[in-house]
Amino acid sequence: MNRDSEFMALALEQARKSYEEGGVPVGAVMVEGGKVIASGHNQRVQNGNPIAHGEMDCIRKAGRRVRYGDVTLYTTLSPCMMCAGAIVQFGVGRVVVGEERNFRGNAGFLREHGVEVTLLDDDGCRSLMDAFIAERPDLWDEDIAGNG
Ligand SMILES: [Zn+2]
Repeated sequence: MNRDSEFMALALEQARKSYEEGGVPVGAVMVEGGKVIASGHNQRVQNGNPIAHGEMDCIRKAGRRVRYGDVTLYTTLSPCMMCAGAIVQFGVGRVVVGEERNFRGNAGFLREHGVEVTLLDDDGCRSLMDAFIAERPDLWDEDIAGNG
């Protein structure tokens, strides 16, 4: 298993955790120098916080950092514009996306702003989102504000 798959598996664990909590199953981890520096998952339902997407939760948990150029952010689902904006704002160097079939996301926007983006098209990430969207279409629609 290459390192991207290894770290994505950790992001997927985070997504599963959210799913088990009744939340939106998107997970993220941040890696620097081959080490995980933070992990997080969507907390919209759990904390009643609409901006707590998986990526935002992960960035928050990483705490204050001076620079993000050497950070790779792994996210199970392609980032929405809010998360893509935060990634560009902080200058995160690289984003690895689990899948973009269930949500198109903003890989193009990230690339246009100099972020290296790798798409894994991971079956595990996709099947968890497939299950969630089938079970909770209302919650999914709420999370993406009807932009699906
Ligand atoms: Zn987002």
